[in-house]
Amino acid sequence: MKIVDVETFVLNNRRMLVKVSTDEGVAGWGEPILENWALTCEQAVLRMRELLVGQDPLQITRLWQILARGGFYRGGPIFGSAVAGLDQALWDLKGRWLGVPIHDLLGGTVRDRMRVYAHGGGEFRAGDPERVRALVVDGYTLIKIAPPGPRGFIDTPAALGAFVDQFAELRDIVGPEVDLAIDAHGRLSISGVIRLLAELEPLRPAFVEEPLRPEHSARIADVVRSTSVPIATGERLFDRYEFRTVLESGIAIAQPDPSHAFGITECFRIATQAEIYDVQIAPHCPLGPVSLATCLQLDFAVPNAYVQEMTVDLSEGSIDRDILLNPEVLDVVDGHIARLTGPGLGVDIDEDAVRSRVAAGALDPGSPMWFAADGSFAEW
Ligand SMILES: [Mg+2]
Repeated sequence: MKIVDVETFVLNNRRMLVKVSTDEGVAGWGEPILENWALTCEQAVLRMRELLVGQDPLQITRLWQILARGGFYRGGPIFGSAVAGLDQALWDLKGRWLGVPIHDLLGGTVRDRMRVYAHGGGEFRAGDPERVRALVVDGYTLIKIAPPGPRGFIDTPAALGAFVDQFAELRDIVGPEVDLAIDAHGRLSISGVIRLLAELEPLRPAFVEEPLRPEHSARIADVVRSTSVPIATGERLFDRYEFRTVLESGIAIAQPDPSHAFGITECFRIATQAEIYDVQIAPHCPLGPVSLATCLQLDFAVPNAYVQEMTVDLSEGSIDRDILLNPEVLDVVDGHIARLTGPGLGVDIDEDAVRSRVAAGALDPGSPMWFAADGSFAEW
């Protein structure tokens, strides 16, 4: 079998798909996207197309080496996302060729359903009490919010207190049986987050995510030592070498993104590497249904999967729903998604719908840009 084509489909600045086709008629799909950088990722994928056409698609690790290492330069979000989508498509293709789900190719399933979490709504996901109440009624057992921003280098007592009070209110709403997590989103300084964690500790957050920006990974041990709150990070780390620093620093939860961190091939290795540090994985997924299905294939294959992020919108008329022939396989029941049993990724793409949704003209930014009161740049 040989690869005969690699096609890209940019739907918007947060949604892009790739299709890898073969001379045997079987094809695979992936989601090679970095939010805000769809067209840049597309160019990287099209360059990699030249390395793939004519190759045997079943030799995934060999092709992964060529894509991830063959250009001499390596690592980072653009290469990582481009290779990730192609790697997903190769795994999808292989699973479809063999008639098995990807987790079967990774050793079989370790669980029957996967716990998923939702965001708590509100402006910039700061947590809306009504939405949080509704999510608990719907059966979610973990809900995540974020401290509103922009944040100062050191928060004023008012800003710090307002967020802690809000978290306490949500904690009362959900009760002790439901987990509440916080995504600091790299908005805080090292000293600022250590002070915040001290205030939050009695309220027992499930975890605090990205307490530091990725360039400060070497300092995350200081944060871990300062608190009993489990620390999560990893959505802006792209390979197992970058994860080594944070795993050795004592984080509790690693959050590789299988659409950014070199695909299923590398994220399976990161999960295995995490297990030897007693670290669980919670794959990062603010993207579309192909990316979510990829995360779930990993979750079903690795023992140390803790919870799955999900922002896929399956409401009637949404892009995410329209591009799938079988959106029902991603339905959340009692806060869980059932094991995906179909071949490959387990989600089937409606190719006509994808082609009809391809973006025309300039793309809107995929994420907001923030500025502080004095006009200086602020972390989103
Ligand atoms: Mg995050």
